[in-house]
Amino acid sequence: MSDTIQIYDSTLRDGAQAEGIAYSLEDKLLIARRLDELGVHYIEGGWPNPTNPKDLAFFQEVVKLDLGARVTAFGSTRRPQRRPEEDEILATLLKAGTRSIALFGKSWTLHVEEVLRTTLPRNLEMIEDSVAFLVENGREVVYDAEHFFDGYKADPVYAIETLLAAQRGGAQILVLCDTNGGILPGELSRIVEITREKIQLPFGIHAHNDSGVGVANSILAVELGAVQVQGTFNGYGERCGNANLCSIIPSLELKLNKRAIGRENLAQLMSFSRFLSEVANVAHDHRQAYVGESAFAHKGGAHVDGVMKVAHSFEHVEPESVGNERRFLVSDQSGGGTMVSKLSRFCPGIDKKDPLVGQVLAQVKQKEHQGYQYEAAEGSFELLARRAMGTYEDLFKLLNFRAIIRKSGQVAEEVAEAIVKVEVDGRIYHTVAEGDGPVNALDRALRKALEQVFPSIRQVHLEDYKVRVLSSSDGTAAQVRVLIESADGRDVWGTVGVSENIIEASWIALADSLHFKLMKDAIQVVEAQEEAI
Ligand SMILES: [Zn+2]
Repeated sequence: MSDTIQIYDSTLRDGAQAEGIAYSLEDKLLIARRLDELGVHYIEGGWPNPTNPKDLAFFQEVVKLDLGARVTAFGSTRRPQRRPEEDEILATLLKAGTRSIALFGKSWTLHVEEVLRTTLPRNLEMIEDSVAFLVENGREVVYDAEHFFDGYKADPVYAIETLLAAQRGGAQILVLCDTNGGILPGELSRIVEITREKIQLPFGIHAHNDSGVGVANSILAVELGAVQVQGTFNGYGERCGNANLCSIIPSLELKLNKRAIGRENLAQLMSFSRFLSEVANVAHDHRQAYVGESAFAHKGGAHVDGVMKVAHSFEHVEPESVGNERRFLVSDQSGGGTMVSKLSRFCPGIDKKDPLVGQVLAQVKQKEHQGYQYEAAEGSFELLARRAMGTYEDLFKLLNFRAIIRKSGQVAEEVAEAIVKVEVDGRIYHTVAEGDGPVNALDRALRKALEQVFPSIRQVHLEDYKVRVLSSSDGTAAQVRVLIESADGRDVWGTVGVSENIIEASWIALADSLHFKLMKDAIQVVEAQEEAI
């Protein structure tokens, strides 16, 4: 039987402290709704502060969403010189109107005396009567023992006393916080083992990642009896971030047989992780455990061969369990195994021993040597393979192109013009077009020529254009790799071009993009004819 571990999400509070991340009110409400769908138990919405009444707006709005998760307001114990009922901090916390409040207090003598500038006994009173005041007002209090582990190392007796003060005040749970993220797993387990004997309440863990072990510390705490894990998705948070719930949750569910958000919701984890990075406007981390795009991507030839025979030979869990997928990368490290699985997508039933496999592999390796990369350019890969297999013959041929940029000193405006000469079925098309830049002008001129013969080219539009300089040691002679993503309302495909010249590299990728479209259309026609027969 599995027992439940409460997932306490702090993405909207601690997570919003991350460098480069700022959420609007709308963003926060959207994230809260998705967190609720994902099945977390607590959603910490922020710190409603008397000096910034704007923070209360989230709590006023989130009520209307009627979420199943407990929305929690976060704040500190009262000020040393005030009584709880006179304290503005506590009053604002109540005003947030949440059923649960996370209240943090000081555990470390250094912070009590040097930062808060009060006495050790006074701090204990502040903890106890602040908790009691909120409980008297009908709130559930999650007590966050700030700097608990550092406090314990400085004065273990006092650190435990702060927990007992919160317990006397009526807190629901005591959360041990590694606020500075400096504790290592061995120390953490020694401190937790002693602490859990001294308290009667259940305990939770709030770890930061400054030593790179935020996830390890959180999992260890659960193994030692913690029933609540506080963290953030994608590990967003101040400095090096919080313990990453994207790693913790699957480990609890799949390896420790605990219930966190449930197996059904677990399959939504990767899509949530990507959604969050999208809203945070941060690139999704491909190397993230479980939910990174590379988490189940196999590149080494022997690995690919192994995975195709027995999936778990090189995978620690099933990718589908967290909503991820197994991928085989085309690269110069891959052997026949990868090639077969890639080729079988459009060449079903192809055998590893087929001479074509070796032929395509040799071409890929040669191209990669020049700087090509097919991992994000499956369109170019398919063209390369089909050209080698003789199942696609180029429908147009470039004779020459010219691109001109004109920029005058006075005017900010830049004019680019391109002239293209292509051959289609023995006929020459000679077109000229202007554009925002030379690549755009080239794209327009090429389309102008091809659209006359292939009207479906009009459906293609450029989704993304990326340029990468490959080696800078040769100065301006460095190779440039251009990756283009195109779409036609039905499919999305990537193509790649490499050259010392950025315009030529772009041309190769552009031309491949249109070749791919024509090839795709031709195949559809053939398939439709076959169906008709
Ligand atoms: Zn924190």
